[in-house]
Amino acid sequence: MNAVEIVKAVKDARIPATEITGKAIERIRQVDSEVRALLTPLFERALEKAAEIDRKIEHNQDPGPLAGVPVVVKDNLCMRGLKTTCGSRMLENWCPPYDASVIRFLEEAGAVVLGKTNMDEFAMGSSTENSAFFPTANPWDRERVPGGSSGGSAAAVACGYAPLALGSDTGGSIRQPAAFCGVYGLKPTYGLVSRFGLVAFASSLDQVGPFSRSVEDLALALNVLSRPDPADATSSRRKRPDYTACLGKDDLKGLKVGVVTEFENYPVQPEIREALAKIEAILRGAGAEFVPVSLPATIEAGLPCYYILAPAEASSNLARYDGVRYGISAKAENLMDLYMKTRGLGFGPEVKRRILTGTYVLSSGYYDAYYLVAQKARIRISREFREAFLHADLLLMPTTPTLPFRKGEHQDDPIQMYLSDVFTLPVNLAGLPGLSLNAGYSSSGLPVGVQFVGPKWGEETLLAAAEAVERVLGKPACALGGD
Ligand code: GLN
Repeated sequence: MNAVEIVKAVKDARIPATEITGKAIERIRQVDSEVRALLTPLFERALEKAAEIDRKIEHNQDPGPLAGVPVVVKDNLCMRGLKTTCGSRMLENWCPPYDASVIRFLEEAGAVVLGKTNMDEFAMGSSTENSAFFPTANPWDRERVPGGSSGGSAAAVACGYAPLALGSDTGGSIRQPAAFCGVYGLKPTYGLVSRFGLVAFASSLDQVGPFSRSVEDLALALNVLSRPDPADATSSRRKRPDYTACLGKDDLKGLKVGVVTEFENYPVQPEIREALAKIEAILRGAGAEFVPVSLPATIEAGLPCYYILAPAEASSNLARYDGVRYGISAKAENLMDLYMKTRGLGFGPEVKRRILTGTYVLSSGYYDAYYLVAQKARIRISREFREAFLHADLLLMPTTPTLPFRKGEHQDDPIQMYLSDVFTLPVNLAGLPGLSLNAGYSSSGLPVGVQFVGPKWGEETLLAAAEAVERVLGKPACALGGD
């Protein structure tokens, strides 16, 4: 059942929330030893929460818009008193004293959190292989990666652990694993969803967003998640629409879809090109028109720009893990020794690489040559998108240049790994919303994803277009024999 169906069944007292939670736990027990999407199961707590929902139903109290819906959440979202590791040894046993706002919003809405999902350490990576604990498998081919950094959340939804999951997306970490696992993943406009209690990676880029296997679930989740939040200074105060209200339209007449001319010569696997053509045909069939748009700087400068700015912000954000304030603390002779040993033991190689790069580009003497130039490129990229949206209501783009790659394939080649996000990270640089959707499967059974990108606050257009596709292709399938 998808989330909308569960809410209905629970509210009508047809199925108790405890039974739904029990079924979800059973499913996890059945397949998670193979997939390894969960870092910390919270089954007992989940059953207690579900019992609370059932009590509310019994007493005719409103159980909320996500009553009894099982969810899993990425392990960089704080939950009070529960382990929040960020996939890192540094925070291996850290239990935050507060909840992330999005966790509070979910639980107030009646959702039942089943567990925390695996991720690349501090959300740095595209394969979930940078988790300090273990890698997660792609549910469609266990020899391949699920994408990252929110690979655990994407794999969990693909396997039917829960109809909804939360991830975070700094440069593609919701959309890329969604594409690799064959589910929906939405990265909202910067400022739409609160980041309070999300462990920071690159604060000017990070956004929290949902995964699902149906468009209506994505809209329902966004209604709950997108509340303005005084605890996050970047949370916009603009009025949010009802995201489910844009669904159920018969056609997309008048919708202008942009295709980026520069992307036509970019090396993209043929299956992904075919998927783009298929989605174009479906949207045309629904009445949409296609227009060419141009983003010349985006594809050229996006990746280097991101890999200067994101590490710069990360080097600052991760300075707090010093062995003094919280996280692990190594035995040491003196203060410098404490810093060196704690950070040496606590961080994995990719996190160290980012901190080194970030510190370098921010140092006096290099700041002007790297950081400042990257900031200028970022403005140019934002401007290009803004101009493109004068001609188009949304853009149809690849989510990734390749299908899910093999475990270990890019482990020794960070640049190849970074290229995985070449189509997603410009969207973060410009603060725009992006939605990755499944467009079918390759001949070897691997999911093929494509991405819609909208102007700021354009989530409704993305959802409506995704629904038009879903009407033709159906809802994404469940992996590993689930339903
Ligand atoms: N893969 C990209 C990186 O490693 C994006 C990560 C993310 O979105 N959190 O930085």
